[in-house]
Amino acid sequence: MSMLEVEGLTKRFGGLIANNDISFTLAEGEILGLIGPNGAGKSTLFELITGFCAPDAGDIRFRGESLRGLRADEINRRGIARTFQKLKPFHGMTVEENVMVGILQHTNDLRAAREQALAILFFVGLIEQRQAHAYMLSTGQRKRLELARAMGTRPRLLLMDEVTGGVDQRNLPGLIELVGRLRAQGMTLIIIEHNMQVLMSLADRIVALHLGRKIAEGTPHAVQNDTRVIESYLGRAYA
Ligand code: ADP
Ligand code: MG
Repeated sequence: MSMLEVEGLTKRFGGLIANNDISFTLAEGEILGLIGPNGAGKSTLFELITGFCAPDAGDIRFRGESLRGLRADEINRRGIARTFQKLKPFHGMTVEENVMVGILQHTNDLRAAREQALAILFFVGLIEQRQAHAYMLSTGQRKRLELARAMGTRPRLLLMDEVTGGVDQRNLPGLIELVGRLRAQGMTLIIIEHNMQVLMSLADRIVALHLGRKIAEGTPHAVQNDTRVIESYLGRAYA
């Protein structure tokens, strides 16, 4: 059985169709890459899956059950979490407190929450920054903090928006390694990512969007060589 089934998903903003009849499935333990030029509808798809906004048509099933009508916090409780393209840490809080915010949505036990936060910060490589204020972190470190916050809600499916966007070249291998360790822990992932090299090393399968529609789906190799993907996206990026 698929972990996630997206069927005929459509979202309009006024006259603009941000997601147009998008369907795909995701198996447990899989890493799916989501690509497409800016404005293709990638982040909107994440908004719909996580319940931050409601689709105009279509359905999303997670572990066999429809998410229709559920609020974002209810969907999160069922095991779906996300990171944001535009990073939104709580700047006035320390790194550790940022992670605890997510954990405390699921428990009132402060001690247990702190222990869990430290374990997660160790996992993402931010244990030494735990007392630092979030605004002091580099972009790469903020990506890790975003990930840590999402992990605090104990997801089974994690959606990562622009994993390596804005991150220094030198810090890419560390981030790729971290996503690999997440998968090794049994996490299922959808990653929005512009760097094809990163996708080649991480993704099992890729879905390509263009103007709100799915234009290709397949192995990274097949999608990279797809004429429509090259014309609408890769051709421009690599031109
Ligand atoms: P991507 O993440 O692929 O760059 P988005 O999903 O952010 O694309 O956006 C897809 C299209 O939907 C864009 O044209 C964008 O301007 C529009 N859009 C996204 N969110 C909103 C919103 N809340 N209100 C109006 N238009 C939106
Ligand atoms: Mg986006």
